[in-house]
Amino acid sequence: MKNLKEEALNYHAKGRPGKIEVIPSKETATQHDLTLAYSPGVAEPCLAIAADPEDAYKYTAKGNLVAVISNGTAVLGLGDIGAVAGKPVMEGKGLLFKIYADIDVFDIELDTKDVDEFVRTVKILEPTFGGVNLEDISAPACFEIEERLKAELNIPVMHDDQHGTAIISAAALINALELVEKDIAKVKIIVNGAGASAISCTRLYHSLGALKENIFMFDSKGLIHPDRDNLDGKKQEFANGTAPASTTLADALVGADVFIGLSRGNTLKKEMLAAMGADCVVFAMANPTPEISYEDATSTRTDLIFATGRSDYPNQVNNVLGFPYIFRGALDVRSKVINEEMKLAAVRALADLAKKPVPDVVNMAYGKDNIVFGREYIIPKPVDPRLLTTVAPAVAKAAMDTGVAKSPITDWEAYETHLSK
Ligand code: NAP
Ligand code: MG
Repeated sequence: MKNLKEEALNYHAKGRPGKIEVIPSKETATQHDLTLAYSPGVAEPCLAIAADPEDAYKYTAKGNLVAVISNGTAVLGLGDIGAVAGKPVMEGKGLLFKIYADIDVFDIELDTKDVDEFVRTVKILEPTFGGVNLEDISAPACFEIEERLKAELNIPVMHDDQHGTAIISAAALINALELVEKDIAKVKIIVNGAGASAISCTRLYHSLGALKENIFMFDSKGLIHPDRDNLDGKKQEFANGTAPASTTLADALVGADVFIGLSRGNTLKKEMLAAMGADCVVFAMANPTPEISYEDATSTRTDLIFATGRSDYPNQVNNVLGFPYIFRGALDVRSKVINEEMKLAAVRALADLAKKPVPDVVNMAYGKDNIVFGREYIIPKPVDPRLLTTVAPAVAKAAMDTGVAKSPITDWEAYETHLSK
């Protein structure tokens, strides 16, 4: 751990500090080049954009530029560490956008916890960007901030901590249920945690067919139940009165089909796992310590499908499978939003991709001969180059089908060839 600490600090400090930089995308060698790039030549695109603001997509970097915006109130598993302390994470997100989907990012750290001030600031930044990725903002402020910005901005906005996790885990859930031959409309789902990620994951599972009466959600105080008087608006959405308010996590898990952990490490005990139904699906996604460890889970029973947020075990639920490609697809058709249909398209594309034969580059990256769809491989691996060419077009198509694409794609073959370059 000490080595990792030193290595990580050196990695960030070496050379030019930080992880990203700005690189000109046009020739700059001659005086004439600079005459075009800046005064007087630059006046021409300015005038064109003044006449038609959509021309910003033609003459500036706007269309490929995403703002990664945070106030540092819920950074990774580190909590409220403040705006500037979150900057390495936001730069890291920029790096991931770039390497996986060739999207440029300005990371923006806002020193405010005031929702109105946050929303107003992002709103006036809109001219610069093609999209906004909200990041690491604590609940419940994150819900209001995202809802208001989605309503007020004409560019796609997504809070990745909510929807990224929901999309990836939903793809994993669909595939896990297919493997154990269970119907999403019939499974009993226990969700431990009722924060930003748990609420948004559960909403998505519900829109994929999970029934609210079969979903039992817990927070740090117990079952989310209609009799509770201390529930904020978002928790109430999943209040379930079909069991007594005194039902504990251990009670609810008896015979349950699915456990979704988005809470705290080590909250799922071995005996609780043992009491779940046959062929149970357990996603223990608390980071960095899952609700139950891989070792404890797999030594308790062999009939389970197990996933975590960690890269060192099978079935990693990792947001990087989603956000680069969701934004790629949204930007490429100049979508005004990222809507439910676009998210569902990403879910289906991810779930389907896991069932296709795995390319050699992926096998090699994991030192495996032949990774195949099954209990230890229910979602694609982050290094899979097909993510870009399958998820982005699926999202773009869904934007077009729902009438939110301002610049529809007409030649899909050319688009996919362009993506794979
Ligand atoms: P959050 O908004 O702070 O929510 C945490 C929730 O867990 C709260 O509802 C809290 O209850 C509940 N909780 C805390 N201790 C609990 C306990 N002992 N039993 C039951 N519930 C408990 O955080 P978040 O952003 O949703 O993230 C939650 C966890 O999921 C974190 O560990 C995060 O790292 C992880 N996560 C993983 C991924 C991934 O794997 N890709 C993605 C997103 C999040 P109260 O409401 O009563 O405080
Ligand atoms: Mg995050």
